[in-house]
Amino acid sequence: MDVKEIIHKMQVTTKEDIDLVINAYTFAQEAHKEHKRYSGEPYFIHLFETAKNLADLGMDGTVIAAGLLHDTLEDVGVKEETIEKEFGAEILFLIQGVTKLGKLKYRGAKRHTESLRKFFVAMAQDIRVLIIKLTDRLHNMRTLQYVPEHKRKRIAMETLEIYAPLAYRLGMRRVHRELEDLSFPYVYPEEYKKTKKVLRERSKHLEERVTKILHALKKNLAKEGVTNFMTDYRVKGSYSLYQKLLRKNMDIEQVYDISAIRIVVPTVADCYRVLGIIHEFWRPLPGRIKDYIALPKPNGYRSLHTTVFTGDGNFVEMQIRTEEMHREAEYGIASHFIYKEVQKSGWRRPVSPNLVWLRNLLPLYSPAALQGQRDREKFQDVPQWIKHLANEQNKVRNNGFMENLRSDFFVHRVFVFTPKGDVVDLPIDSSPVDFAYAIHSEIGDHVSAAKVNGKLVTLDTPLKNGDILEIITKPSAKPSKKWLDFSKTIAAKQHIRSYLELHKTR
Ligand code: MN
Repeated sequence: MDVKEIIHKMQVTTKEDIDLVINAYTFAQEAHKEHKRYSGEPYFIHLFETAKNLADLGMDGTVIAAGLLHDTLEDVGVKEETIEKEFGAEILFLIQGVTKLGKLKYRGAKRHTESLRKFFVAMAQDIRVLIIKLTDRLHNMRTLQYVPEHKRKRIAMETLEIYAPLAYRLGMRRVHRELEDLSFPYVYPEEYKKTKKVLRERSKHLEERVTKILHALKKNLAKEGVTNFMTDYRVKGSYSLYQKLLRKNMDIEQVYDISAIRIVVPTVADCYRVLGIIHEFWRPLPGRIKDYIALPKPNGYRSLHTTVFTGDGNFVEMQIRTEEMHREAEYGIASHFIYKEVQKSGWRRPVSPNLVWLRNLLPLYSPAALQGQRDREKFQDVPQWIKHLANEQNKVRNNGFMENLRSDFFVHRVFVFTPKGDVVDLPIDSSPVDFAYAIHSEIGDHVSAAKVNGKLVTLDTPLKNGDILEIITKPSAKPSKKWLDFSKTIAAKQHIRSYLELHKTR
C-alpha cells in the first residue's frame, strides 16, 4: 500500500489535489491504525482500495480524499469538527453523506420502497456521495467471504436490490455488473450453480469461435474500406444471464446475447455503415436488429445491435457504437469527466482512441506521474493531442468542473417513483408522459390520465423529486401532437413522433 498507487491512477492531478490525497491518506492510516477488518488485515486496506477505485473512475482529489476518510466518523470516532478543520466543509459534507447512506439497511421487500425513497432523497444532494458509496460497496463485496456467514446474505441482497440498480441508473455498467455477479452466489446459491453450469456447457470453445469471427470481421470491414475501428468482446454476466433465463423458461437456446462483439467507430454514420457490411457477410437473425441509436433505451443507452448466424451453427450478437456511446455505456456518469473537457476545448481527437485506452494513458502522462526521468522521456513521444488533453483537464478542473458535473446530473434530473416504489430518473421538468414512456412504450402510447401523489393532474404537469406517479391507460387513448411540446425525454419524443407518423390521417 502506497499513496503513489492512488496518485498514479488519478486523472486530475494538480498540486492541491495530490497534497489533499496525501494528507487524507496519512490521516486515515493513523485514525484506523488499531482497526482491523474481518479478514484480520488492517482496516486501512479497505480505504486504500476504495480510493483506488475512485481514482480509476476519474474522480478528483476531493472525492478521493473523502473516499479515504469515509469511515472515520462512524468507525473510529473522529469528530466532525476535526475533519472540517483539517479538510474543509466540502469533504466533511461528502463523508457525512456516505455515513448517512451507510445507515440505511435493506431488510426485505416491505421496507424496500420507503428505504429506497429516503436513500434517493438523501443522496440526491450530491452525486459524489453516491459514487463513493458505490465504490465502498464494491470493495466490501469483493471481500465478502471474510464477513461472518450470517451477515453475508443480507449484505449481498442489499447490494443486489439497492446498489446494483443504482449503478445501473447512473449508467455505470461495469460497476453494476460486478456488484450483481458478486452478490448472486450469496443470494441465490442454487440458481447461481445452475446458471454457471449452463454457461459452461454453452460457452465451450467460445474463445476460439470468437477469435475466428473477429478475424473475419476485421477482414470484411477492411475489404469495404473501414479501417478506423476498435473491437472488444464480452461474455454476459452470470446474474444478468440468470435473469434472462428466467424470462426464457431456463432455455439457453433462447438467449442470443451470451457473447457479444463490440465494434466502436468514429461516427453515427459509420455505425450504420458497419451494420450494413455485417449483414452483407452474415445472415441476421430475424427480429434481433435493434436500433438504440434512433430509439435509445430509457436509461440513455445507445448502440446498434444485431445477432448474426456465424455459419458454424452458432450465432453471435454484434453491438455497434461510437466512442462516446461506448464510454457512456461502460462508465455512465463517470464518463462525462473526460468527455466534457474535450468538448469544452472545442478540440477534436484524431483517429479512434477508445476510452479504456485513453484512460490508461492519461494518468501515465499526468504531471504527477512525470517526476521520474524515464517518464519524462516517455512524455516526449506522447502525441500532441494527449498532452493537450492532459493540460485541458487541469485547466477545466480549476474552473470548477466538478461543480459542473454535480449540477449537471442533479440539477437536471428528477427522481420519481412508481406506486410500487421503483425509481425512475428523468430530465428536469419531465411530464407524466415522459414517465409513462420510460416505463414502457405501450404505456406511453395509451396514457389517458395521470395521478401524482394520489391526485389527478394534467399530462403536462412538471414532475418533482420524490413524486409518486400512477399512470392510467385506456386502449382508446393515443398520443397527441401537443405532447411533443411538453415531453422532455428523447425516448418519449421519438415514440410520439413515430406513432403520429404511423397513424397519419390523410
Ligand atoms: Mn467503508
